[in-house]
Formats: sequence, structure tokens, C-alpha cells
Amino acid sequence: MSHYDLILIGAGHAHLGVLRRWALVERPPGRIALLSAGHDAWYSGMLPGLLAGRFSADDCRIELAPLCRAAKVELIVAEAQGLSAAQQQVELADGRMLGASWLSLNVGGQVAQPPQQGADMQLLAVKPFADFLAGWQAWQAEPQPLAILGGGAAGVELALALADQVPQLALFCAGTLLAGHNAGLHLRALGHLRQRGVQVRENCPIERVDEDCLISGEVPVWRGHRLLLASGAQALPWLAQSGLSCDQGGFVQIGASLQSLSHPQLFAVGDCASLPGARKSGVYSVRQAPVLAANLNAVLRGLPLRAYRPQRQSLALLATGDGGALLGWRGWSAGGQFYGRWKDYLDRGFIRRHRFSG
Ligand SMILES: Cc1cc2nc3c(=O)[nH]c(=O)nc-3n(C[C@H](O)[C@H](O)[C@H](O)COP(=O)(O)OP(=O)(O)OC[C@H]3O[C@@H](n4cnc5c(N)ncnc54)[C@H](O)[C@@H]3O)c2cc1C
Repeated sequence: MSHYDLILIGAGHAHLGVLRRWALVERPPGRIALLSAGHDAWYSGMLPGLLAGRFSADDCRIELAPLCRAAKVELIVAEAQGLSAAQQQVELADGRMLGASWLSLNVGGQVAQPPQQGADMQLLAVKPFADFLAGWQAWQAEPQPLAILGGGAAGVELALALADQVPQLALFCAGTLLAGHNAGLHLRALGHLRQRGVQVRENCPIERVDEDCLISGEVPVWRGHRLLLASGAQALPWLAQSGLSCDQGGFVQIGASLQSLSHPQLFAVGDCASLPGARKSGVYSVRQAPVLAANLNAVLRGLPLRAYRPQRQSLALLATGDGGALLGWRGWSAGGQFYGRWKDYLDRGFIRRHRFSG
């Protein structure tokens, strides 16, 4: 079994930020590896633009090999399928075991899937992105009516990106559309969706898929053959089996230093972690990067740790599929092409910052 001083598991937003910092300034001492399921990290913020035909695939992904080389970190391309918190060991899907003195988890989450009876409906989850894009390409070759499950930012952006590409589109949300965002943003999003012919069904939780029907409250609410899953992040099942202290949803409970509450040798950040006040969104994961980089450096050098405090508000910028975007900030909302150009500038800046040559 190979042993490392530190293994970063998953190329999520925070780990990309850590690697970038180590590429630009001195990295901590020791044998360090990044374990990633793929050779690239896809940037979810640009995915709707990719689907709308505004970006190429290369615009939306960060190649990990040059970033790791610049950070002097070993890249291991393999999927983690188990973790022992007590033994600090990671089990890979190819059967290998890796051990480490310190571990950091940034593996995101998976998309929720309703129970399905029969095989009349094809289901496609928006994550992992590489699988989703391959599945969508096949669907795109033969457009058919489509239903999207999930009324959060991802569901809204996907519906607006795909509305012109399918003969009929329905968007189902368990509660209200964009719950947790301000009322103005909710109304603007509804207006855009209706204008593009999207049938929006709020407060309509889909309990199961029965042959070619979506069932809510024992009533068939949509009939078709294609369902896109874009509802909230669910914890990866192996986290709850690792021995780590997890919340009710199976997400790893952490404290302000970003360390596991039960196993301080292990850090967790982004969607896979549970910390009061931190939301499951890329924005929060990005903001955890500087504190994580400092704390991983601190534990490897025996220095004091820093505290992360989640921001109370975050800016929402939702792509409308036509080059524009909707903006939500506190109680305020706006929309138009100007915000779309701003979003593009921010998104392209994220990719540029993490792209290293050589
Ligand atoms: C269409 C869409 C649009 C979105 N737009 C935005 C937006 O504009 N702004 C925003 O803030 N949020 C947005 N989100 C939400 C955002 O994608 C997530 O909240 C965010 O990606 C979580 O980041 P993370 O750092 O936790 O990990 P992720 O970005 O999810 O990265 C996890 C990484 O871990 C890897 N991984 C997973 N499992 C394993 C494993 N077993 N072994 C090894 N590696 C593994 C994955 O390959 C991936 O590289 C959007 C989501 C979607 C679906």
C-alpha cells in the first residue's frame, strides 16, 4: 500500500484553489497526491452555456495534469469507493489501497434519483458532468419532450439552456422555484421560463417514475420518455460508511478549521461537508480554498490553524441561455445581457486562474 503525507480526494472547487496557491507559492513539505475520478475538472458554472452552444467543452474544463505538475503534487486518476477514517486509508475502485497521515475530501455530491418502475423512461443525471454530456449528446441527436427534476439554480439554468432544443420542456420542483433566493429573482426566472415555453410545476414533488409517467401524490403529472435529474446534492454513500461523524443527510460534519468533528486528521470541504451557515454551492467551496490551503500547510508544518467563517450572503448569477443572466443579491434582483457578460467574465476568469501550461 502506498503511503502519503497528504491525499486530496476529489478535484472540487476548493482543492483546485489549494493547488493553484501551491503552484504560485511554496507548497507544504511531504509526499502529496490529488486523487481524481477524471483527468479534468469540469466547471459547473459554465455547463449551461456549453449546453446552449455558447462555449466549447474545452472552455469549461481544467486539465489536472499541468495544475498538479505546477503544484508539485502527484495526480492519481482513479475513483475512491471507500474510506476508513480510523485507519486513514482510501479504497480505490480498481482495488488499490492508499494510506495517508492527512486526508482532505472535496468530492461534491450526487444527484437524487426517484425510484423507477419499468424501463419506459430514460433517466440522465446532471452529475458526473462527463457522463451527462455524453448522454445529452445522444439525446440531442433525436430531440424528444423532456422533463427536468429540480427547481434550484441548476434546474432553472438547464431549462433555459435547453428550452429551444427540445419540442416540449417541463420543469418540476418539490417546493417553490429557486427557494432561498429573493422574490424578485423568483419572478424574473418564472417570466423567462414561461416566455421560452417551459411548463413550470412548483410544489410538485415527484415520488416515483412509473413506466412513462412521473407520479406526484399518486397522480400521473407528466408522460414522456426522458427525464433529466438536477435536484439537490445527496451525499456519496461511502462517506457515511467511513466511520466519520456525518449529519442526517450523510454529509461529513466539520468545524471552523474545516476538520472532521470526529477525526481531525481528515478535512472536508464543499458540498460533501456539513457546517452550519455554509450552503451547498460552488461559491462557498471556492471561499473555503484559502483557509484549507493555510490549514493543510499548518498541519504539515506544525503551525496554528485558521478559522473559516461562511459568508452570510452570496451573489446569484443565473444564465438565461441567450447570453444574458439574472442577478439576485439580498432582496434585490436584475436581469439582462450586461449581467450575462459579467457572469462570462467571472466564469472565464475562474478557468484562466486554474489553467497552467507545461
Ligand atoms: C448545471 C449546474 C450549474 C451550477 N451552477 C452553479 C453556479 O453558477 N454557481 C455555484 O455556486 N454553484 C453552481 N452549481 C452547484 C455547484 O456545481 C456545486 O455546488 C459545486 O460544484 C460543489 O463544489 P465542490 O467543490 O463541493 O465539488 P464539485 O465541484 O462537485 O467537485 C467534486 C469533484 O470530486 C470528484 N469526485 C467525485 N467523487 C469522486 C470519487 N469517488 N473519487 C474521486 N473523485 C471524485 C468529481 O469528479 C469532481 O471533480 C451548479 C450545479 C449544476 C449541476
